[in-house]
Parts: sequence; structure tokens; C-alpha cells
Amino acid sequence: MTPPEPIITRFAPSPTGYLHLGHAYSAKLAHDFAVNNGGKFLLRIEDIDQTRCKPEFETAIYDDLHWLGIKWELPVRRQSDHGRDYQNALNVLQKKDLLYPCFCTRKDIQQEIIQSGYAPHHLGLDHESEPPYPKICANLSEPEKEAKYEAGTVYALRLNMDKALDILGSEKLIWSDLVAGEQWASSEILRDVIGDVVLARKDIQTSYHLSVVVDDHLQNISHVIRGADLFYASHLHRLLQFLLGYRTPIYHHHKLLTDENGNRYAKRDKSLTLHHLRKQGQDPKNIL
Ligand code: GLU
Repeated sequence: MTPPEPIITRFAPSPTGYLHLGHAYSAKLAHDFAVNNGGKFLLRIEDIDQTRCKPEFETAIYDDLHWLGIKWELPVRRQSDHGRDYQNALNVLQKKDLLYPCFCTRKDIQQEIIQSGYAPHHLGLDHESEPPYPKICANLSEPEKEAKYEAGTVYALRLNMDKALDILGSEKLIWSDLVAGEQWASSEILRDVIGDVVLARKDIQTSYHLSVVVDDHLQNISHVIRGADLFYASHLHRLLQFLLGYRTPIYHHHKLLTDENGNRYAKRDKSLTLHHLRKQGQDPKNIL
């Protein structure tokens, strides 16, 4: 009999603002699940976007969690220290010819979308109003690419979703979500909603989706406990796990906390940040 896998959960905030009550809920859920099952709880700082991350927000993450009495294993993984891991994953995808350079600006993409008369797909997703990339750079010839490289045009790397789905063929990519039950990657969502997603941004040579999948793998996360706003991202994460040869964790997408008007908590609501509540002298027990 194979021994049961160790339970390892994580809380993975981005230091782009102060944590709010929703973060406290998410961190506590992940922490308690690990501790109650004899597992480990990790903290990961998702700071790849150095233009939006600030050291004071990172410090506040540690202080807020300490204040709430939530303890994590050391060392903390800071994504900005691990560019090489993301590059290695990109190399694997590149070898399978699954990436292509995209030289488009945001404006190029918007113009193309308007011209094509894009009609959104109604799959009931939060982000259905954001159309997939219209594949402008998907079929550039080698000389066209060379000319752009030579001119020093910066580029992102996009996943060629059609090729990825060809590799997948008829295989069904399943995962289990402790709230929503068994799930499987939908080619409709992958092709028509997510599309040729950026895996390496022009400025940071990685992306949220790539980094989170690589890190969950390298840190042996057994249960990804996070907000329901990332529920549909799991279709892409599951596909990337398949393409990179990683095993798939169990997911738990928890409901998002809302204020009395039904609005989600956001980092911009200053009065409801943990930092503010802590400085006000609130009792952390009341928060929990
Ligand atoms: N860094 C993400 C955030 O702050 C969370 C990523 C995840 O849990 O997968 O929203």
C-alpha cells in the first residue's frame, strides 16, 4: 500500500496592497486544513510583478498573519527569487513547440478584436467579457519574427492553445475540487475563453499562471485552497500540469467573503484591511 501523501497547503498572496478580511479567511482555511490533518502550511509571496509589489505590503503580510496567530513553515518562497524555475518550465513547453512570441501591444490587440466583431461567449464565467487573444502573432513567418527580434521589439510568449489541445487529444484532464466535486478541463473554456494566454510577460518573463503551477509542483502542494475567483483558472492550470508532466493537487475553491452590500472585499477598501484593523487595536479573535 502506498503511504498517504503528506498534506501541504499554502497561502499565496501578492504584496500589491494590504490583505483584507477575505485573505484572512483564505489563509485560516488553508492553515487549519493542514494543521488538523497533521500537514504543513506554507506561505508563498507572489511578487513577480515588481512594478506593483511593495516591500511594505510584504512586511504587512508577515505582521498580519502573526497578529492572527497563523504560523507557517520556513523558508517562505518568494517568486521573484525563482526566475530560473519558470524559465525551465518555459523551456519544456518550447521544446514541444507550444509557445510563440507575441509582439503585440495592448492597442494592436484591441483594434484586432474590434475589427473582427468579436461576440463574447456566454459560458457563465466572471471574465467572459475579456476576449481571448486574436492570434495576430500566431502565424508569423520566421523572417517576420527575425526582423522583429533584430529591431529589438520586446515580446511575450503565448501558449499555442490549438497545439496544446492537439497533444491532449481525447484525454480527459480530471481534478477534484472539495467544494464543486469532480471537474475536468473543458476544451471550450480553454479554446474560446482562455485561448493563447501569455505565459511569459514582456516585462517579467513569466506570468501568474505559469509561476503558480510551477510553484505548487515544486512545493509539493497537495491541496490548493484559494478563492472562487480562481475557479476557472484551474482549467488552464490543469492543462499546464499535463503539458509539464506534473501531478495535480486537490483543489478547494472557497466562496469569496463579501461586505453587507454583497461586494467582495478588495485591497483598495482601506478601512477593511487587516493592517488597518490591527493598527486600530482590534482583537484578532473577532476577525477570525
Ligand atoms: N497570488 C494570488 C492572489 O493574491 C493567489 C494565487 C493562488 O492562490 O493561486 O490573488
